[in-house]
Amino acid sequence: MTEIADIEKKDLLYKGKAKEMFTTNDPDIMWVHYMDQVTAFNGKKKVQMQGKGQTNCEISSLIFTDLAKHGIENHFIKQLDTNNQLVKRVKIIPLETVVRNFASGSFEKRYGVKHLMKFEKPVTEFFYKSDELNDPFINDFDAEALKVATEDQMNRIREIALKVNDRLKEIFAEMAVDLVDFKVEFGTTSDGQLILADEISPDSCRLIDRKTKKSLDKDVFRKGLGALVPVYKELLGRLEKVEDVQ
Ligand code: C5P
Repeated sequence: MTEIADIEKKDLLYKGKAKEMFTTNDPDIMWVHYMDQVTAFNGKKKVQMQGKGQTNCEISSLIFTDLAKHGIENHFIKQLDTNNQLVKRVKIIPLETVVRNFASGSFEKRYGVKHLMKFEKPVTEFFYKSDELNDPFINDFDAEALKVATEDQMNRIREIALKVNDRLKEIFAEMAVDLVDFKVEFGTTSDGQLILADEISPDSCRLIDRKTKKSLDKDVFRKGLGALVPVYKELLGRLEKVEDVQ
C-alpha cells in the first residue's frame, strides 16, 4: 500500500448528489470530496450551501473512526482537510440499508402509523439503489434473485447495520439526541471483504433533540424548516464533546 502522505488525487470517477469520488495513485484508495450541496426527493430539490460539505465530512470522519474502534470495520482511512477524506476502494453493493428505531419518513407513509411510534426492536429494511426506479423497497429474496447480494451478504449486512445502530444510539444519547433512523451502504474490497462504506451524517440519519423535539438532520431541508448548516454545526459541536468519540 502507498504511504498515506504520498497519496495523490487523480481522476473524477463518480459524482454523486453530495460527494465526488476521485481515484488516486493507489488502486485500493479513493479520495472523497464532500460538496457544499444538499439534495432531497431523489435530487428534485437541490441547493448549494456553504459549510455543509465540511460539517458532513467532519461528522462522518468522527463516526467512522469511532465505529472502527468498536470493531465495525469500514472504508474510512483519514480525513485530509475540511472537505476531503481518503477511503478504501470498494465495489458498492447497490442497496440502501435502513435501520429504524421510531416510525418516520417512508415507513410512516407506507403503513399509515403514528409519527415517531417507538419500535420494540429495531426494524431493518432494504432499498434497491436505482435513481430510475426511485430506490424501490427490496427484500432478501429479490436481492438474491437480482444478484445484488448473496444470502450470506444480506445476513452479514443486517448484522453489521444493527451493530452500527447500537453504537450510534449510544453516541447520540450522550448528545441528548434520539436516533430515529439511518441509512448505510456496504461494499466489497478488492480482496472480497464486506465492509461499511459511504457516509454517516445528518444527511443519512433522522435525529431528534430530546429536549426541544426539533429535527437535527436533513428533514430541516426536506420540510423547509429553516437554515440547515447551523443545525449541522450544532450537531457537530455536540459530537465533538462526546468524550470517547475523538
Ligand atoms: O425516507 P425513509 O424514511 O425511507 O428514510 C430512512 C432513512 O434513510 C432516513 O434517515 C433518511 O435520511 C435515509 N435515507 C438516505 N438516503 C436515501 C433515502 C433515505 O440517507 N436515498
